Amino acid sequence: MASIHSKDTRPELAVRHWLWHHGFRYRKNARQLPGSPDIVVVNAHVAIFVHGCFWHQHPGCPAATVPHSNVDFWTAKFRRNHERDERVRSSLSALGWHTLVIWECQLKPPVFEKTMAVVAAILSDARDSASSRPQPRPYDFVSDNDDYDLAAEDLEDYDSPD
Ligand SMILES: [Zn+2]
Repeated sequence: MASIHSKDTRPELAVRHWLWHHGFRYRKNARQLPGSPDIVVVNAHVAIFVHGCFWHQHPGCPAATVPHSNVDFWTAKFRRNHERDERVRSSLSALGWHTLVIWECQLKPPVFEKTMAVVAAILSDARDSASSRPQPRPYDFVSDNDDYDLAAEDLEDYDSPD
């Protein structure tokens, strides 16, 4: 499968910068995990996805509109995205990872700091309870590309924000 997941969107960058400057260390674009999580905070066992409100149809969000033309196409596409998100979440959960979704609208300037404060609290809690649980086993997932030959130690080499 081609590597189509190496996206670095602005909202993702903002989240990474914030986490980095607040002492959270992570891996980005973890292609060896189901769904290629945008950000993985290893010692908290948390996989973070930054979701576009339109593509992932953020419930109740003004940005989650359905286009007026080709309604069937869009409805089917959104349903597939939703089903995929659910599959990814349960696969990650089976491997011992929590999933945290941050919606793009929650990263707009007026609410960004508030959102990240909540994220930080979740990560801190998860980190505390992670220390008493067994480590997740990310490499039990064998993908259809050859990423599985990465050494497990790779997750200990943290990424910088950029
Ligand atoms: Zn939204």
